[in-house]
Amino acid sequence: MVAISYEDIVKAPKALLHDHLDGGLRPATIVELAAEVGHELPTTEPGALGRWFVEAADSGSLERYLETFAHTVAVMQTAPALRRVARECAQDLAADGVVYAEVRFAPEQHLERDLTLDEVVEAVVAGFAEGTALAADAGHQIRVGTLLTAMRHAARSQEIAELAVRHRDGGVVGFDIAGAEAGFPPTRHLDAFEYLQRENFHFTIHAGEAFGLPSIWQAIQWCGADRLGHGVRIVDDITPGDDRPTLGRLAAYVRDKRIPLELCPSSNVQTGAAASIAEHPIGLLRDLRFRVTVNTDNRLMSGTSMSREMALLVEAFGYGWKELQWFTINAMKSAFIPFDERLVIIDEVIKPAYAKLLG
Ligand SMILES: [Zn+2]
Repeated sequence: MVAISYEDIVKAPKALLHDHLDGGLRPATIVELAAEVGHELPTTEPGALGRWFVEAADSGSLERYLETFAHTVAVMQTAPALRRVARECAQDLAADGVVYAEVRFAPEQHLERDLTLDEVVEAVVAGFAEGTALAADAGHQIRVGTLLTAMRHAARSQEIAELAVRHRDGGVVGFDIAGAEAGFPPTRHLDAFEYLQRENFHFTIHAGEAFGLPSIWQAIQWCGADRLGHGVRIVDDITPGDDRPTLGRLAAYVRDKRIPLELCPSSNVQTGAAASIAEHPIGLLRDLRFRVTVNTDNRLMSGTSMSREMALLVEAFGYGWKELQWFTINAMKSAFIPFDERLVIIDEVIKPAYAKLLG
């Protein structure tokens, strides 16, 4: 097998379904925006600040990991700041060879300076459009869809679900629930999920990251999630065997129904959902042909990018272009944009590029 270089991975088209807007800011941008609003940071040197985020997130606890967001969210409270962060996000993803991205954020966390929920969404969507246009000028094609997240410990999920549906023709393609899992089961938000189903809208749920099978089961069988945000603990329902592993009923259901798993290798290691990249369940789940996708989660906190996640998997599991194409097509098949638009990206962008790489 021909060795795969990092530069080639960057050039190869990639699709990303799970990336948080408030987890992907450029450190230099945080420093500038914090100075404008008088927010105090641990350090104002961009390089050191970037390292601070990774170290804080490396602690191994999801709760501490979420603490780092106090700083990013603090500088994302005005329309110009949200626009800039979204614009740079689209540019950074495009420069990394991402051709399709769904980026999520929680509008309710950006209301500290008098913006309305609708104004928050409009600023972010406008930023993505600007970033997409600037990326195209620089020779990188990308399409960015927005997912609106409701916080699982809060009580605004119905309101955010309605907000998402209101902006469905303006760039919002799906809905999500995020935040610490323990004590906040997704069934607390059943009204929102039932509303979204009646609206024929798409949603994913953060489940099975810090918490195990019950949270995955609830997300799918009670809430009707289209995809699982992480879902990595589905391995708890798989028993290793001498010949081949045995799937429990939930794992079998997830695989049979082709329910996409939004796995985020580096992030899963940081939060303790996996011991290391080499021991990450992605290897087993891929062998068993679950609908596995590779994602970044929080590029700033994990010091990562889509290309880096792919490179880590190449190194740990010996994957080649065939596997990278499989992950990419899995993600594109699982996207929340219309089927015909997904097909165009698969047939006209992804397949031709990997055909060349595969030789
Ligand atoms: Zn996430």
